[in-house]
Amino acid sequence: MSVQIFTGEGEGFYSVPSKRLMGPTFNCREFHLGIVLDWGASFPFVRYVVVDALSATVIGAGESKAEALGQARILLRQCPRADLLDIFVQQECAANAWRREEDARLKAVTAEASDLIEKTRNRQISKKRQAVFDLNNGKCFYCEAVLEIRGGWHVEHKLPKSRGGTDLADNLVPSCAPCNYAKGTRTREEYLEQATGNKIKAVK
Ligand SMILES: [Zn+2]
Repeated sequence: MSVQIFTGEGEGFYSVPSKRLMGPTFNCREFHLGIVLDWGASFPFVRYVVVDALSATVIGAGESKAEALGQARILLRQCPRADLLDIFVQQECAANAWRREEDARLKAVTAEASDLIEKTRNRQISKKRQAVFDLNNGKCFYCEAVLEIRGGWHVEHKLPKSRGGTDLADNLVPSCAPCNYAKGTRTREEYLEQATGNKIKAVK
C-alpha cells in the first residue's frame, strides 16, 4: 500500500509506502502510517509520517513511529468532539494548505524583492562607472580612501563643468562623497592645497 503526500506548491505529490491505521483514534478518516525512504537532506529527521489520505496532508512526522503517531494523536485530541473529528481534520488540513500557500507566496515575494535589489545594484555599475573606478585602482582620487565598487562613491569632474570641464574620460575620476562635496567647484590642486596647506603640483 502507498499514500500520496502533498509537499507544497510547485513540488506536488510524493508517494510513500504505507499501511492504513486502525483503532478508535484513526477510524474517523483514512489515515496512513507512511515510511519516508529518500527525503534525505531536506527532512533528515523524518522517517515516519501519518498522512490524511483524502487530503494527502501530513498530520504527524518523526524519526520514529511513536513520534509520528504521537504528533498525530496530539492534533486529533485538539478536536472537542469525537463525532466532529472528521470535519476537524478536514479543516485542519485546509488550514495547513493555506499556510503552505501563504509561505509559498511570501517566498515568491521575497525572491522577487531580492531579485530587484540585485538588478538595481548591477545596473548601477555601468561600463563608464567601472572604467572610472578602475582608472584610479578603486581609490578616491583625492584622499586615496579605498572605495567599494557598489558603494556610493561619485564620478567626479577634475575640472568642474562650471569651469569648462568635459564629460570625457580624461576629466573623470572616482571620488569619495566627502571629498567631492568638500572640493565643490575647485580644481584638484586648489582643493588639496587648501586641505593640506601645501602647494600641490598640477597633475595632468
Ligand atoms: Zn576622498
